[in-house]
Amino acid sequence: MQFIDLKTQYRNIENDVRQAIEAVLEHGQFIMGPEVGQLEEQLADWVGAKHSISCASGTDALQLVLMAQNIGPGDCVFTSAFSFFASAEVISLLGATPVFVDIDPGTLNIDVEKLALAIKAVKANDPSIYPLPVRPDQNLPLEAKAVIPVDIFGLPADYDPLMELAKREGLFVLEDAAQSFGGSYKGRSTGSLGHAGATSFFPAKPLGGYGDGGAVFTDDEEVAAKIKSIRNHGMGSDRYDHVRLGLNSRLDTIQAAVLLQKLKVFGDEVAKRQEIAERYANMLSGYELQVIPTGYVSAWAQFSLLTDKREHLQEELLKQDIPTMVYYPKGLHHQGVYQSLQYGENDFPVTDSVCRRIMSLPMHPYLDEESQERICRVFKQAV
Ligand SMILES: *Cc1c(COP(=O)(O)O)cnc(C)c1O
Repeated sequence: MQFIDLKTQYRNIENDVRQAIEAVLEHGQFIMGPEVGQLEEQLADWVGAKHSISCASGTDALQLVLMAQNIGPGDCVFTSAFSFFASAEVISLLGATPVFVDIDPGTLNIDVEKLALAIKAVKANDPSIYPLPVRPDQNLPLEAKAVIPVDIFGLPADYDPLMELAKREGLFVLEDAAQSFGGSYKGRSTGSLGHAGATSFFPAKPLGGYGDGGAVFTDDEEVAAKIKSIRNHGMGSDRYDHVRLGLNSRLDTIQAAVLLQKLKVFGDEVAKRQEIAERYANMLSGYELQVIPTGYVSAWAQFSLLTDKREHLQEELLKQDIPTMVYYPKGLHHQGVYQSLQYGENDFPVTDSVCRRIMSLPMHPYLDEESQERICRVFKQAV
């Protein structure tokens, strides 16, 4: 059994994908070919954002937005302690400081009340209010600039109170929708829930390509124009005029062509993911599953549950050829590179507990009912 089965999807769309790639090989516009613009239009429509800017990866999508906001040394950006490394990496790459915030034990997303405390702590420069990182230059007070809520496992964070808080505190909100493309929050699509959103087309994500890719979404014309410039070496109005420093972060035309074909079946796939998640939830009722509040639709990048018997369960499932994964074995504050921030052992107790207890079951749109029944039977027996 596959943890994520990409082959079945490929078999279903094989002819279209081959033709789409073939068309690019024939027209030869490998960089910023016509498929890139077509994809951006369709992505913007899907998300309900005015602008969509494709780029080379989800990580770059996050970084492009922070660069457009002039985030740099002396600034701090708040993010969840429970995420993939890239959510924090982009902050540090720009010389800014990540300030981690603990998560809600049910949704596993950033705890907005704790975020409010963290903001207060930064503004008062007082770690007794909320744990703060230690900075090499103690004399510089950090300036609170932005927050990156992460839609973990495909489930949107709680954006209504979050946006209200951000407005009150003057913070820019960058939605890390790398895992949540296809989800929604109170009727609004993920990617459109902050001031800007970033998603990833890494092959294993809900909308995955056949290589790396990403996109930024925003309604802000000025931000969009700046990001378009930054993704292409800070280009100005003509090709060899560079008005700022940027990146080489364009989406390959071939990837855009593949993604256009995948978008055709994506609506069906999102619906299938809902059915599969619902079946899991029914079969595993009584176990500690990620909580999906009313009004939220997860893109189900992962189906995750919490257990004290993780190691045993993973072993027993694997004996029956059922792969499982641990996302993530440690919080971002415990990453080697962040030891310099000197966070305390118990600064984020919910994150630490979740990291010890989380595990994810096979999840993809082509998982059949029989396999799900087998997974749940083996799981329950092992418990
Ligand atoms: C995958 C992921 C990213 C990075 O996306 P890439 O396309 O792999 O660069 C960022 N944030 C989260 C939460 C992710 O899961």
